[in-house]
Amino acid sequence: MASPFTDTIIALSSGGLPSAVAVVRVSGPAVRDCLTSLTGAVPAPRHAVLRSLRDGEDLIDESIVIFFEAPASFTGEDCAEFQIHGGRAVVARLLETLLRQPKLRAAEAGEFTRRAFVNGRIDLTGAEALADLIDAETEAQRRFAAENQDRRHAELYGNWRAQLLQMRALVEADLDFSDEGDVASAGVPEIGSLAGSLVSGIRVHLQGYATARIIRDGFRVVLIGPPNAGKSSLLNALAQQDIAIVTEFAGTTRDPVNVVLDVMGYKVVLTDTAGLRETEDPIERIGVDKSVAAAGIADLILELDDGREPYEVAAAPGIPRFMLRSKSDLLQPDCLGARDAMRISSVTGEGVDELLELIGAEARKAGGHVHMAALPFRARHVRLLEETVRHLEDAVCQQEPELAAEELRLASRALERITGTIDVEDLLGEIFSRFCVGK
Ligand code: GDP
Repeated sequence: MASPFTDTIIALSSGGLPSAVAVVRVSGPAVRDCLTSLTGAVPAPRHAVLRSLRDGEDLIDESIVIFFEAPASFTGEDCAEFQIHGGRAVVARLLETLLRQPKLRAAEAGEFTRRAFVNGRIDLTGAEALADLIDAETEAQRRFAAENQDRRHAELYGNWRAQLLQMRALVEADLDFSDEGDVASAGVPEIGSLAGSLVSGIRVHLQGYATARIIRDGFRVVLIGPPNAGKSSLLNALAQQDIAIVTEFAGTTRDPVNVVLDVMGYKVVLTDTAGLRETEDPIERIGVDKSVAAAGIADLILELDDGREPYEVAAAPGIPRFMLRSKSDLLQPDCLGARDAMRISSVTGEGVDELLELIGAEARKAGGHVHMAALPFRARHVRLLEETVRHLEDAVCQQEPELAAEELRLASRALERITGTIDVEDLLGEIFSRFCVGK
């Protein structure tokens, strides 16, 4: 399939300038003309060659030039990469020279990847995984995003689409049969068990979103405890920087304070909350309610006990919770405090490294297996998978084969929108505008 784009796009695809090397990327039908005018000839495809880049008589720079011939390129059209010296003036002069060529223009954010999608080089989940790879800040995020580029989602959803097609064929056969007028159709029992097993498969797959969220958005660790128990000081000790406000007056943290950490390769969002205590002050009460709410959606709760009467927060089922005996520097060396708590001191640093290890181990327990299978990794995927399930369930309930067939078609359509097999024009702006220019 020939690329439908008639203009050629260019962008600086490497990072901030100045840099040792900068990469300028060009894609579109005018690539060969660009190569000829800058270097005198089109090099053999997929070979890195050293060339002088010229603007007429003027030498711009010496460059490594690589030509990728359509369709075997990232975008599926003719592409070229110029690896030049990363000086601001060098890059500016090359871009300016290129932009003077006819039918060439600066690329918009994500435009190379959008062309790759339109030309069938990647599916939408692949494009999203690529965006995640570029945004990855931790090792676990990188690994998950890299694995998600291997078309595993396209294969899984393709397989489910094939099952839906099979069900539709059964229903349509039933339709033809009832058309003959011999037997009135009494529902479509054949699809009941097929639809049931597909629905169970999708439901299991949907459960994986919680794990994918932990890796992409972070493992949520919430510090709770009475005012002045040392929560803000511990947050600072864990983050090894002063981010939270530490004060000796009780009740100063009203809104939860978040710090993002990389703990053993996992993104961890550590939240300091307002101290928990009975209070008449309506504003402090809001802070306490927010703390309880934050604990309710945590992946791990760290409860600080400084030896005073604790304020009980009901434990949410399934959320791991650890007791920490804070200000351990004020205790006798062997004293663990009540409830067998782990000793921790933001003053001496006792227990801080062990606590980071514990957080890392819990994050690994919750998300360490994330790369092993295809999981939905965007809210968009979840929404469309839930839509697929809804239509499948509706298909089974229909008495009329026509209506069952329509529900199955809608189920298929929802699935196809995840990978972008069908028209998804309305989604593209949203997905690709999040990329940087040059990608
Ligand atoms: P929060 O209200 O729970 O966030 O508590 P803060 O972190 O603001 O600390 C309250 C008070 O306890 C401050 O005066 C801190 O200096 C003090 N503090 C916090 N952590 C420790 C600790 O590990 N050892 C000692 N001795 N004092 C601490």
